[in-house]
Amino acid sequence: MLLSSFDYHRPTSLDELFDLIGLIKSQNESFSLYGGGTDLIANLKLSGESPDNLISCSRIEGLAGVRHDPNNNSLFIGAMTRLADLCEDRQVIKKCPVIALTAKKIASPQIRFLATLGGNLLVNTRCVYFNQTELKRDSLGSCLKTGGGSCRLVKSADTCKARFVSDLAPVLILLGAKLHLKSADEERTLMLEEFYRPDGIQKNHLTLGEILSFIEIPLDQPPKILYEKLRVRDAVDFASLGVGVGWNGKKMSAALETILIGTDPAPVVARFYLKDFKDIKEMIEHASNQASALLSPLKQDFFPVGYRKKMARQLVEKMARELTGKP
Ligand SMILES: Cc1cc2nc3c(=O)[nH]c(=O)nc-3n(C[C@H](O)[C@H](O)[C@H](O)COP(=O)(O)OP(=O)(O)OC[C@H]3O[C@@H](n4cnc5c(N)ncnc54)[C@H](O)[C@@H]3O)c2cc1C
Repeated sequence: MLLSSFDYHRPTSLDELFDLIGLIKSQNESFSLYGGGTDLIANLKLSGESPDNLISCSRIEGLAGVRHDPNNNSLFIGAMTRLADLCEDRQVIKKCPVIALTAKKIASPQIRFLATLGGNLLVNTRCVYFNQTELKRDSLGSCLKTGGGSCRLVKSADTCKARFVSDLAPVLILLGAKLHLKSADEERTLMLEEFYRPDGIQKNHLTLGEILSFIEIPLDQPPKILYEKLRVRDAVDFASLGVGVGWNGKKMSAALETILIGTDPAPVVARFYLKDFKDIKEMIEHASNQASALLSPLKQDFFPVGYRKKMARQLVEKMARELTGKP
């Protein structure tokens, strides 16, 4: 699984990055950005193909680290902040401890030492047919993601059914995180919740040549959040099912929110308002049933489809009870 040859670049500023991208585009060459490379390099090795240029963002000034902005009471986390640093960061632990706790559930210490927050939010979708060596893929036959005409998991599907696996996405969506995206001629912000697409190939709304620079997290009245992960081993493994639950107990607009990953091509988001139910117990029962009903797991994981649906129901119920204090 060797990489084919490519030119390697390490710009030190955003201006340098965008000049470089402009030059590469003008030469009709391909490129990929990378943070820690823990997902990208593995995928390139499996595919047996490399872009003409790999651009590391690790030396770009100002893209790593955590800053609290007292003016709008928000936390700004640089996309190049390593997961290992997120786990230890004092401001993160104090203001949004669930981020540090969730980052600790990703991969292994060695991987977290290289992996970045930005790379995690942009991690590739996974599938039992796609995440294989080129040799094995060839023997199995092509799929939509490898340029074939049909999805091997769901023959009738017209979009890729590879599953979304970023563990930090559910937690950051629950926190109301906003992405700061920058290209040579535009700077824009987008709610993380609106960023993903239900398609394993066109995964999100990032455009070619655009970089994720910061993640902004509002700190005024954040909901209480828990995140749990179903996986075979308690380390290294990707989520077979990831469950994020948020509870905002404000009197008039109390709401429970559930975000599920690891089964579908994008996070599965649902919101339940207490005013629509007789009491909290009824709301939790409805939310847990919905968690199971809304998921579309496919036969591409160690855990059977029915088991993952059942676990979605049970985890949401357990976590919602814990958050609302209604055992
Ligand atoms: C053994 C193993 C276990 C893993 N377990 C987990 C797990 O449990 N949970 C999980 O969520 N992930 C897991 N991962 C995947 C991966 O390690 C993490 O998601 C990691 O956070 C990716 O970050 P990175 O910086 O290495 O991303 P990279 O590999 O550098 O990049 C990933 C993608 O993001 C793009 N990108 C990166 N940064 C930027 C940016 N600033 N702007 C625009 N595009 C950008 C790249 O072009 C690429 O497409 C695992 C990986 C391995 C190898």
